[in-house]
Amino acid sequence: MCSRIVLLCCLVGAALAAPTPASASPVPPVSEQARAAGLVDVRTVVPDAVIDLRYATSDNFVGVPLYPADARCLVHEALAPGLVTAAELLRQSGERLVFWDCYRPHSVQVAMFQAVPNPAWVARPSEYARSHESGRSVDVTLAGPDGLVDMGTGFDDFSALSYADATEGVSVAAQANRARLREAMTAGGFTVYSGEWWHFDGPGASVPRPILDVPVN
Ligand SMILES: [Zn+2]
Repeated sequence: MCSRIVLLCCLVGAALAAPTPASASPVPPVSEQARAAGLVDVRTVVPDAVIDLRYATSDNFVGVPLYPADARCLVHEALAPGLVTAAELLRQSGERLVFWDCYRPHSVQVAMFQAVPNPAWVARPSEYARSHESGRSVDVTLAGPDGLVDMGTGFDDFSALSYADATEGVSVAAQANRARLREAMTAGGFTVYSGEWWHFDGPGASVPRPILDVPVN
């Protein structure tokens, strides 16, 4: 397959993530709506996380920002223990988690589908919230001391190279880097999406839940 857009997820360029100091100022509380939905700011779970939400920029397949510029990475609190586990494992190799997408409001999923109304490439909005829409899936990569780790593709590569277990056209080093990310996330109870090495489903991600549309900032 050779389209630049693929099932379910997450698109966009692979710019280097700006480091987030581990001892940054305190994380402000999330909105009342987000709190009531059980969402937490991932920085309160993984203090050294690099936050690089690509949908908060115009560098995405719709061509305009889909999130406010001050959007943050919100995840359901059920994911917190697993993210702690994964991040701790990765620190042992001097690496940090980079978050490309986290909770995605239903209205954004609708906008994505309106831009690309092809359910083969973008998940059709449903009457339920699952995956990113329930804050239970994340798109992540790794940052090392020298910046983003080579994974063989960026966030916007929707070719067969993006398959989680791709070998052809993906260097041995990149395959190993993907495996290291996958092993850390798996240890935290996450499951990789076979079509995208960066997409991980946390516990309960596939369970249909009521539509959730809360502020992402
Ligand atoms: Zn995703």
